[in-house]
Amino acid sequence: MRILLFNPWIHDFSAFDHWTRPLNLLRLASLLRRSGVQVDFYDCLNRRSADLEGLKPPPRHRLNPYGCGHYYREEIPLPSILDFVPRKYKRYGTPPPRVEERLRTLERPDAVIIASMMTYWHPGVFEAAAMMRRLFPHAPILLGGIYATLCSDHAKEFSGADAIVTGPHWPAIVNRIFEILGFDSKCPGDQSTWIEPAYDLMRGDFCYPLLTSTGCPCHCTYCATHALWPRSLFYPREAILESLDRLVREFGATDVSFYDDALLVKKKEHLIPLMEEIVRRNYGLRFHTPNALHVRRIDRGVAELLKRSGFATIRLGLEFAQRDRQKTTGGKVYSDEFVRAMESLRKAGFTGREVGAYVMYGMPDQPIEAVWEGCRFAAKQGCEVKLAMYSPIPGTPLFERSAGAFRFDPAADPLLHNCSLAPWRSRSIPYEEYQNLKKKVSLLNENVRKTPFRGA
Ligand code: SF4
Repeated sequence: MRILLFNPWIHDFSAFDHWTRPLNLLRLASLLRRSGVQVDFYDCLNRRSADLEGLKPPPRHRLNPYGCGHYYREEIPLPSILDFVPRKYKRYGTPPPRVEERLRTLERPDAVIIASMMTYWHPGVFEAAAMMRRLFPHAPILLGGIYATLCSDHAKEFSGADAIVTGPHWPAIVNRIFEILGFDSKCPGDQSTWIEPAYDLMRGDFCYPLLTSTGCPCHCTYCATHALWPRSLFYPREAILESLDRLVREFGATDVSFYDDALLVKKKEHLIPLMEEIVRRNYGLRFHTPNALHVRRIDRGVAELLKRSGFATIRLGLEFAQRDRQKTTGGKVYSDEFVRAMESLRKAGFTGREVGAYVMYGMPDQPIEAVWEGCRFAAKQGCEVKLAMYSPIPGTPLFERSAGAFRFDPAADPLLHNCSLAPWRSRSIPYEEYQNLKKKVSLLNENVRKTPFRGA
């Protein structure tokens, strides 16, 4: 059996590659291969793709030494439900004619599996399903991923896929795929078996994704992690280290980004011994944590180990500075804990550029003054502020309560989950004030970058 795995385009007002690699599609590729399936792979979001050759680079494009950057993009018509937004809408990724040309050179697949990410990026998924149907009319099209899991009814009705594949863990998902395709095989291993992503399918990159655990013990009211990965598990350390060895030796990796949601949970049993061994093996890798670290678990020892083992980007999930909001959204961190964690990071030698705190805005009933207070509080501790726009996500407690709190009901259409709509969705943060806030945050960040880290 031969299966084509396809990572589709993003349709949105803006998109930036913040270490966005199709990790789960690469893990699926590995599992399919283990079961004897031949795999082809196409990633529309691969910024190093040979299929982009000769195209004008995106504006403001610059080489980012850590593996992030702007996608190639083309303006496309704005969906009518979003016509109140005075911004251009774009398709991010390799242009469809070039993708099609490449796909025509592949062997005919017996099935196609399309990945999906953000719920409001589903138009890119639909475009992919239509292309696959045209190019490979005989092949069943399966759809999985975040949108397919969180909006499965919508996906069943509108995506054009023949089947939606979701499940609580990998062996179950792969076995469901085999069942749908009538393939008489069982995925080897169980939930806790290490899955090395099929890194060879990303050959030529220098920054690789790594997932060492799944799940999170916190229950933040705005986060969908429990709907996506209900089970918390930690993969065996030796297996992770073998993959890191291979990344350095065979793939020439210089950067690795952790995709874990709760990297520091069970730190004594998991991350600390892993990092100690990484220090001992002296890989010379730079590590990045685009998913925020649990602030509460950062003490002086952890901070020093993160520094020694090569962490170059630390993101912290502060979100709010007000204790009542910190508490009612799940209590994952309080301000005094943030101050202590920042002190440890500073003393360990991290700079303001390396550490960034997510501050959320656009939550129901969140005044702009409260957002600004959060930004100033984070910057005062010496880290950059990363504004995180609230997106109402199905499957989260807050989504159920969102309808009345906004100008429009996000449940009416997944396109309305888009975080970029925050200034239009919120009753308390008008667009002009949002623009001012962004300017003020950039000045804050400039100051953070200029100011030597106190306590270092
Ligand atoms: S701590 Fe992070 S991953 Fe865990 S529930 Fe909260 S936002 Fe989600």
